[in-house]
Amino acid sequence: MSFIPVNEPLLNGNEKKYLCECIDTGWISSEGPFVKEFEQKMSASVNRKYGIAVSNGTAALEVSIQALGIKEGDEVIMPAFTIISCAMAVTKAGGVPVLVDSDPYTWNMKVDEIEEKITPRTKAVMIVHLYGLPVKADEILALAKKYHLKVIEDAAEMHGQTYNGRPCGSFGDISTFSFYPNKHITTGEGGMIVTDDEELAKRCRMIRNLCFREDVRYVHDEISDNYRFTNLQAAVGLAQLERLDEFVEKKRKMGKYYTEKLRKIDGLRLPVEKTEYADNIYWVYGIVLDKNIQADNKTIQKLLAKEGIGSRTFFWCMHEQPVYVEQGLFGGETYPDAEYLARKGFYIPSGLALTEEQMETVTDKLVKVVNMLS
Ligand SMILES: *Cc1c(COP(=O)(O)O)cnc(C)c1O
Repeated sequence: MSFIPVNEPLLNGNEKKYLCECIDTGWISSEGPFVKEFEQKMSASVNRKYGIAVSNGTAALEVSIQALGIKEGDEVIMPAFTIISCAMAVTKAGGVPVLVDSDPYTWNMKVDEIEEKITPRTKAVMIVHLYGLPVKADEILALAKKYHLKVIEDAAEMHGQTYNGRPCGSFGDISTFSFYPNKHITTGEGGMIVTDDEELAKRCRMIRNLCFREDVRYVHDEISDNYRFTNLQAAVGLAQLERLDEFVEKKRKMGKYYTEKLRKIDGLRLPVEKTEYADNIYWVYGIVLDKNIQADNKTIQKLLAKEGIGSRTFFWCMHEQPVYVEQGLFGGETYPDAEYLARKGFYIPSGLALTEEQMETVTDKLVKVVNMLS
C-alpha cells in the first residue's frame, strides 16, 4: 500500500533552471541577485514598499518584534490557538503574550474579545490568519489606532489571499510570510518581512545580519542573530511566485473537492468556504470533529495512518505549552474554543502535488475511519 503524505510541494516550474543559474554563476549566499529580486517581487505582490527575506517564518516574526522595539514586560495580544512561533518571538524579547480565544468556525481569534485584553502595558496586536481564512483586520486596525498599538500581521498561511479585496500581508505596521514547504509557495525553508515603513525596513535588515553598524563593520550596538536568506532559496522562491495564482486556484479546487465529498458525513466540521470578506484558500484542508464523535485528533491520525493516509493534528494552544505552564506564564487561564480546536482538529493531505485520485482515496479512507468511530 502506498502512503499518501500530508504534504508534497510542486517544484516543476522554473525552480531547477534558476537553481542552475546560482550554481553556474557562483551566487549561492545571501549576497546573490535573486534575493533582492524576490524581495522586490514579493513585497510588490502585496502592495508593500519593502521586503526583507529571512531564514524562515519564525525568524520573520522574531526580527519584526525586535524591530518594533518590543521589550521586557511589553504585552502583545495574539490568539491562544496558533503556532508557537508567534509567542516565542515575544517571549524571547522578554515580552508577554496576551491570549484571545478562537472562533469555533473560522478558527481565527475572536476579534470582539481583544479590546478587554488591552492594558497600559499593551504594545502590539498580532493578527494571525489561520488555515486559509483571514482575520477581520479592519476591526483590529481600528482598535490599534484608538489605543496607539503596533500591528504585526502573520501572513504565513496567506500567500495570494485577500481580505475585502486587499492583499493579506498589507495590514498593519509590518507583515510576515513563511516559505516552509506546506505554504502556498515554498523555498524549502524561508520567510519574509514586508512593510511600508522605511525606518522599520532598515532596522529589519540590520537585525537580519547580526546588527552590523552601518558606518563600521564588525562593530555592534545591539544583539541579534544571523537570519539571512540565500540566493538558492530565492531562486526557488522566484519560480514559485510565478505560479502563485495557479497554486491558489488549485488549493481552492482541492478544498471544493474535499468539501463536496465530505459534506454529508456526520460528525465533521469542515472549513468555512467563504465569508463576507474572503473565500477560503485552504492553507491546508482542516477538519474539526464534532461533539458526537468521542475520539480526539490523535486517534484519528493513528487510524488514518493505518489506512495509508498522512495527517497532522492542529496547533496546540499557547497557554497549554509545557514550557509556558512551567514558567507560570498564563496562570490558570482557559480558552475553551481554542482548546477544542487543538484536541479535535486535524488536516488531511493537501499539498500542491496531490492528485485527484489521491484525494478520492483520502476521502474514502476518512469516511471509513469516521464510521468506525461513530
Ligand atoms: C508556518 C507558520 C509560521 C512559521 O514559519 P516557519 O517558516 O516554519 O518558521 C508562523 N506562523 C504561522 C501562522 C505559520 O503557519
